[in-house]
Amino acid sequence: MKVNGIIIGAGIIGSAIAYELSRQGMSDLHVIDPDLEGPLSSTERNAGGVRHLWQQPINRELSKHSIALFEKLKTEIGFNQTGYLWLFGKGEEKAGKEMLARTQGHNLSYEELSVSEIRSRYPFLDKTDDLAFAIFGAKDGLINSNSLKQYYRTEAKKQGVIFHDRHVVHSMLEKAGKAQITLSTVTSDIAAQDHLKNPESLLKKSGPITWTADFVILAAGAWSRELLIPHLTHPLIEPIRRQIILFKAENFHMNEYGMIVDTSRVYFHPEGGNILAGLVLKNEKPGFNFDVDPDFFESHIWPALYERSSSLEKLKAITGWGGLYSYTPDTSGILGKVPGAQTLYECHSFTGRGVMQSYGAAIALSELILKKQFQTIDASCLSRDRFLTGHSEELLPEGLHI
Ligand SMILES: Cc1cc2nc3c(=O)[nH]c(=O)nc-3n(C[C@H](O)[C@H](O)[C@H](O)COP(=O)(O)OP(=O)(O)OC[C@H]3O[C@@H](n4cnc5c(N)ncnc54)[C@H](O)[C@@H]3O)c2cc1C
Repeated sequence: MKVNGIIIGAGIIGSAIAYELSRQGMSDLHVIDPDLEGPLSSTERNAGGVRHLWQQPINRELSKHSIALFEKLKTEIGFNQTGYLWLFGKGEEKAGKEMLARTQGHNLSYEELSVSEIRSRYPFLDKTDDLAFAIFGAKDGLINSNSLKQYYRTEAKKQGVIFHDRHVVHSMLEKAGKAQITLSTVTSDIAAQDHLKNPESLLKKSGPITWTADFVILAAGAWSRELLIPHLTHPLIEPIRRQIILFKAENFHMNEYGMIVDTSRVYFHPEGGNILAGLVLKNEKPGFNFDVDPDFFESHIWPALYERSSSLEKLKAITGWGGLYSYTPDTSGILGKVPGAQTLYECHSFTGRGVMQSYGAAIALSELILKKQFQTIDASCLSRDRFLTGHSEELLPEGLHI
C-alpha cells in the first residue's frame, strides 16, 4: 500500500498530530495502533493535570499553545481551570522562587501565596508548620484526557484521516527517498495488549505487510524506543512506570479544589467524588510494568497526606494502576526529524506532560512537515540531535517536575 502520511500510535500525541495536519489540509493520512481504545496507553492512565509552569521556555510554550485550545473547548473536553497549587517547604525557597521568576513577563497569572493565604484558600490544608510558601496558577487545572483524545480524533476523521485499529508496526525505515513501515494485524484485545506488554518481541521480526509513504511520524509514546532501536547507537529513552491511586477520604470531599502538589511531591486532586493521587518514585526500573505495588498507597501516599491535613487522615483506597512515562536524559520530549532521515519524523517521550503539551507539539511538528520550518513555536531544541551532537546541555532538566 502507498499512502501520503502515516502516524504510528494513536495516543494523545498521534491523535493531536492527525488533527492538526488534517486541519492544515493534509490528505491521505493514516494512523496505526494495535489498540485504539488504548487501555495501556499513557493517555488513558494519566492524572489529567494541566499547567503552564515549567522551567524550560520550550515546555512553557508547548503548554501555553495547548491550553489556548483547551480554553476554547472547555466543556467539550472537560477542562476545568480549578487551579494548580504547588507547595514549597522551608529549605525549598530558592527553587520555588526561581520557578516563579521564570513565569514573570509571560502573562501567565501565577501568584505567590504565603502560608496564611494557603490556609485561608485551602482550609483543609491545616498542617503547615513545615511550609514556606506556595505557587498558585489560576489558569491551570484538570482535563479529561480521553475526551481531548476523542476530540482530536473526531475532528481528524471529519477531514478524512483513517485510524487503523489492530495493526502493529514492526519497523520504520527510509528506502529510495520514501518512508517505509512493515506491520502485522492482531486479532483481539488480548493479543494487542500482549504485544504492548512485551514489545521487545517486535525486534525479532519485521511485519508481513509493507506500506510506503511520503512521510512517517513515530508517536508511539513509551513504545517508540522499540521502533527507534535500528536508528540509535545507544538507548536514549526509557519507559518507566508511574503509579496512581484512587481513594476516598472519610467525611471530606475536595471537589471545589484543583491539583495540589505537596512538598513530598505527592500530587492529588478531586476525581469524580473521590481523590486521585500519584508520586514519582525515584528508584523505579525501566520496563513495561502496568501494575500498582500493593504497598504504594500505605507506604507513600497516605503518610504524606496524613502529614498535610487532618481531613486526609482517614482514607480508603479504591483502586490503583501503573502507566508509563517515556523518559529522555534531560526529561523533555523529542520532536523533529529522525536524525539522518528525510522522510521520518518523531514526536514522543513527553514524560508526565504529554497531555498538556499535545496541541503545542502537534502545531510544531505539523509546521515542520508542511512548511519545512518551525513558525509558531521554535521546537528545534527538541530534536533528538541534541543528544547525538553533545548539545543536550542547552536544554536543562526540568528540576521540579512530577
Ligand atoms: C501516571 C501518569 C500520570 C501522568 N500525568 C500527566 C498529567 O497530569 N498531565 C499530562 O499532561 N501528562 C501526564 N502524563 C503523561 C501523559 O499521559 C503522556 O505524556 C501522554 O499520554 C503520552 O501520549 P502519547 O500519545 O505519546 O503515548 P500513549 O498515550 O502511550 O500512546 C502511544 C500509542 O502508541 C501505540 N503503539 C505502541 N506500539 C505501537 C506499534 N508498534 N505500532 C503502532 N502503535 C503502537 C500504543 O498502543 C498507544 O496507543 C502522565 C502519565 C502517567 C503514566
